Amino acid sequence: MRFDYVTTPFLTQSTSRMAPVGGGWAIVEALGERAEKAGVEFFYETTARSLIQDARGAVVGLRAVGRDNALREFGARGVVLASGGFQGNHEMLAQYFGRQALAMRPIARGGYYNKGEGIRMALAIGAAPRGDFGEFHAEPIDPRSGAPEPANFIFCYGILVNSAGQRFTDEARGPIDAHYEAVTRLINLQAGGIAYSIFDAGLDEVPNWRTGMRSDEPPIEAATIGALAEGIGVPAAALERTVAEYNRACGDGAFKPLAPDGLATRELDPPKSNWARRIDRPPYRCWPVTAANTFTFGGLAVDSDARVINMDGEPIPGLYAAGETVGLYYKTYVGSTSVLKGAVFGRKAALHDAARNGASK
Ligand SMILES: Cc1cc2nc3c(=O)[nH]c(=O)nc-3n(C[C@H](O)[C@H](O)[C@H](O)COP(=O)(O)OP(=O)(O)OC[C@H]3O[C@@H](n4cnc5c(N)ncnc54)[C@H](O)[C@@H]3O)c2cc1C
Repeated sequence: MRFDYVTTPFLTQSTSRMAPVGGGWAIVEALGERAEKAGVEFFYETTARSLIQDARGAVVGLRAVGRDNALREFGARGVVLASGGFQGNHEMLAQYFGRQALAMRPIARGGYYNKGEGIRMALAIGAAPRGDFGEFHAEPIDPRSGAPEPANFIFCYGILVNSAGQRFTDEARGPIDAHYEAVTRLINLQAGGIAYSIFDAGLDEVPNWRTGMRSDEPPIEAATIGALAEGIGVPAAALERTVAEYNRACGDGAFKPLAPDGLATRELDPPKSNWARRIDRPPYRCWPVTAANTFTFGGLAVDSDARVINMDGEPIPGLYAAGETVGLYYKTYVGSTSVLKGAVFGRKAALHDAARNGASK
């Protein structure tokens, strides 16, 4: 695998980012091929359900279920849980996030397969939970789109209103990569978990704005704010009032879209701290926005060898975890680290288990 600096959908960035060349798919292809060559056997359409322990408490295999609910057991000298988080399991999402869980969805289809089973089967034998079970990595997406990651990273150039037609947050606190998650969580807390990202013709003055708008759905467009409100189904009078108040609070400074420009509103609550320009040039455009759950934060406690730790702080012999199944994050996602969490702890688990079983590296 080669890692390099990559182009991102963020028009403003707080930091540069590295990623695998070819994306996550390239990792699966490269490591999958290598594993097959090494004689690893894959069991597709086989879902792990529970762990098997011996009399001393060591994990010595797992129970799984295949097609037609056929049960089967696998004996093993060690088990590495790498089955993701629980972003695809609404029962668990509701348990940890409450009623707003229904207003979020996995950011891409693969997320529906991550139902928290690995986390649950380890908790069931006494593993310690770790990571922020009440949080998830949130991304702002267009709910109309079925494309993978139909993200809206340009909302900071316009305003966001809820279904009552009211603003509820500072849309432009700073570089978009550093602030989109906090804003997306507030979107999730609005009625119905939805907001509307509104612009005027001035959006076209943002160079390459399409890079930051990954939805394949066209915006709802109208010649007046009232007609736009009707098009999106929010009260017209409320949206007209919100835009008028916002426009009155905007100044006339220079608009510099590719860095935080300090062009802030005056005496407006909530304020808009950057890129605050009047919305008064038709056509008016709107993309709906909801929160996507990229992955959940809650998972299992592991030590630096990726061994799963029990509630008493002791490693559970034979049990390891890697990737989203490991609980690590609290409050905010540290960008670009989730793939590495899989790669690092996966390798740590393999090295420790091989040494434990007397295998060479
Ligand atoms: C659109 C998108 C963009 C992203 N961008 C970035 C980024 O820029 N940088 C970054 O670091 N991260 C990013 N991430 C996050 C990162 O890709 C994932 O968090 C990471 O790949 C998770 O790896 P994992 O091995 O833990 O889980 P996964 O890759 O989700 O693999 C889990 C596997 O376990 C299988 N499984 C689930 N349950 C069971 C079971 N009971 N039995 C058997 N198998 C099971 C699933 O089918 C799946 O194949 C992004 C994610 C998405 C979706």
